[in-house]
Amino acid sequence: MPAPFPIEPEYRIGSGWDSHVFELGRPLWLGGLLIPHAAGLAGHSDGDVVLHAICDALLGALAQGDIGSHFSSHDPQWKDASSSGFVRHALQLARHAGWSVVNLDANVILEQPRIAPLQAQIRESVAGLLEVPSERISVKGKTPEGLATPHTAIAQVTVLLYRSSALTTPRAAPHHNV
Ligand SMILES: [Zn+2]
Repeated sequence: MPAPFPIEPEYRIGSGWDSHVFELGRPLWLGGLLIPHAAGLAGHSDGDVVLHAICDALLGALAQGDIGSHFSSHDPQWKDASSSGFVRHALQLARHAGWSVVNLDANVILEQPRIAPLQAQIRESVAGLLEVPSERISVKGKTPEGLATPHTAIAQVTVLLYRSSALTTPRAAPHHNV
C-alpha cells in the first residue's frame, strides 16, 4: 500500500511589475517610505510604484487578479490613498488562506533619486508592512540604461509564499495494515 501522505509544505511564487511617471511637486513614496525629492510619482493613489508591484506580486501568487481588479483607479475612495492599504489588503487575503511570506525581492529602476542610500530604510519599511524580518526583504536599485525613460520609475517584484498543507487541506487518516 502507498505510504501515508506526508505533511508537505506548499509554495506559491508571484511577480509584480509597475511603472509611474514623475511629476514635479508631488510627494515621492517608494516602498511606503516618504523620500525628500523635487518630484513624486503621478497616479490616482499616492503613486508608490514599489508597493503597487508588491501588491501585484502577492495577488499573483494567490492567483487573485491584480491591483486594478481590487482597487479601481476610477473609484474616488482611492484618490491619493496610501498604497500601504493595498498591500495590507493583499496580505490579509494571503493570511486568510494560510499563506505567509517567505521572502521578497524588488528591483527599482529609475535615474533619480539613487536607491543605494535609501535601501536600508525601504527594506525596513516593506518588512514592517509585510510583518517579516528585513533580512527577508531585498531592494535593489538599477539605473535604466538604454531605456530612455528619465521621467519614469519602474518596479519589479518577486515574492514567495509558504503554507503547511496540514493546516489547510484535510487529509484522510492513513490506513495501517495489521
Ligand atoms: Zn501603480
